[in-house]
Amino acid sequence: MKKLYPTFADSHNYRGTTQNLHRLTNLESDALRASILERDKYTCAYCGFAAKEWQTITYLNGNPGDNTKSNLVTTCPMCSLVLNTPLGCQIEGIVELYEKSDYTQNEIVQMTRKLRSEGKTDDQIRRTLGLQIKVPYKMNKEYLKGLYAFVSSWKGSWGQVEEALAYGYAHGNKSSKN
Ligand SMILES: [Zn+2]
Repeated sequence: MKKLYPTFADSHNYRGTTQNLHRLTNLESDALRASILERDKYTCAYCGFAAKEWQTITYLNGNPGDNTKSNLVTTCPMCSLVLNTPLGCQIEGIVELYEKSDYTQNEIVQMTRKLRSEGKTDDQIRRTLGLQIKVPYKMNKEYLKGLYAFVSSWKGSWGQVEEALAYGYAHGNKSSKN
């Protein structure tokens, strides 16, 4: 599995002025997306969660103009929030950051999904994960990289995120560690 940690893609990559940025048509983009999901067997590259619904595609080098297949991996909604920490922390208010944990970030996602699917509360899950010293979000990659992100059960403000996460919790026991 790929190592997971809280981060974000540089926003200048998304403004469309980059020389090498190749914008795909919707049709091309749908076909590419489908081929990546198929190649990865719908399995998240970071936590091993497999699902036919709600999986997204991550650009490993953070450049959405680089559509080479080796730059694209299937990612579940929880890992997506960790990889887009500003969205998770600031916009949705659903992600919390901690200085300490007894587990890796990859394991935190796997265990959170599993425990929540078993009906555990956020407090119980935080304790199981050994999450300690809650710290504020800062738009700083070096700072974020040393922290652990916890996707809380807060519903967030955007219905799609809520729906995507709920799907994962309903199927949480399918998570594998391979
Ligand atoms: Zn994942």
